[in-house]
Amino acid sequence: MILLGSMFVVTLFGAALAHPVEGEATTAQFLANEAILVSAGETKILFDPLFTHSYGYPLVEPDTKARLMASEGEFDGVDAVLVSHVHGDHFDAPEMNAYLAAHAEVILVAPHQAQLDMRAAAGWQEGFVERLRILPFTAQPQELVIAADDVADAIRIEAVHIPHAGGPGRSHIQNMVYRVTLNGEATVMHLGDATQDPRDYTPHQAHFQAHETHNAFPPYWLIADWGGDRVRATLNADHVTGIHVPINAPISVRASREDFFTEAGETRAVHGHD
Ligand SMILES: [Zn+2]
Ligand SMILES: [Zn+2]
Repeated sequence: MILLGSMFVVTLFGAALAHPVEGEATTAQFLANEAILVSAGETKILFDPLFTHSYGYPLVEPDTKARLMASEGEFDGVDAVLVSHVHGDHFDAPEMNAYLAAHAEVILVAPHQAQLDMRAAAGWQEGFVERLRILPFTAQPQELVIAADDVADAIRIEAVHIPHAGGPGRSHIQNMVYRVTLNGEATVMHLGDATQDPRDYTPHQAHFQAHETHNAFPPYWLIADWGGDRVRATLNADHVTGIHVPINAPISVRASREDFFTEAGETRAVHGHD
């Protein structure tokens, strides 16, 4: 009860600070699986956009991937790509190498394991290194600030490792949970394939409570297991939209009143409660 009281205060304080500028509304656009484009005016980031394995989850549609690789349409001016972990339904090393080669301005934020895969894959160039922001596999919160569109702190990233779902058999996978604030206004969170084991969130309670997230994108199993209220409280998130929904959506998603990304191209406005 004491904990819930203090979270309420933090939430109100966060909302008072965060009002997106009119006309510069932040939006999140769903591509497939855990691939999301977040746009805040000129500032654009992509989560887990390049992958080639389905494993029963939707792939990015070919025409969408072609626009993404060519920086056309909604993908014009992407500033940074963030990778949660190296599984084939989130990340493809040769495609990432090709993307970086084609987009000399883009910064890549990724776990250490992604860089190892990219170095061993076709298309690696040593010149990529200066555009890589590689996160070591540690338990400590990590912070990054990335300039974009002439704004020194356009992209503020606070990341923690939360173990991959599936128990000890997946514990070797470095799964990064990113909280990203764009232009000091809108904050989103992407959790990769984070576990539903609540014990793995307890050590990061202070991290999650330090800043309110306007829209968090957890894997659907977190919402299915915990329920939306507990997910919002634990992550200190105003709104949650579940991702990683299988092509054959489970009953826990179809019967839920919570929010999920299931259709390619659908969007959500990202903003705090007024
Ligand atoms: Zn995974
Ligand atoms: Zn996955």
